[in-house]
Amino acid sequence: MTRLTWSGSYTLADVRTKHLGIVCDKCQRKGRLLTAKLIADFGAGRKLPDLLADITERAGCEKHRADKIYDRCQAHYDKDSIIRD
Ligand SMILES: [Zn+2]
Repeated sequence: MTRLTWSGSYTLADVRTKHLGIVCDKCQRKGRLLTAKLIADFGAGRKLPDLLADITERAGCEKHRADKIYDRCQAHYDKDSIIRD
């Protein structure tokens, strides 16, 4: 297994951990979502960068659509989440 670099077009099907951790320093939020539930909701082929937007929006992240780029939500996947090679 490899530590993630989220630059690629990984999908939910590549997630190898039971939970997918998401952190937003800007909003001081932290969450762990069941990978299986995410696949059920969004599909295994959902690209992880797109999924992040889905999740923050659904979670009601207030900064998600901030006008100013420096004020925008900075949610990212927790570094402990692991995807396959
Ligand atoms: Zn946020």
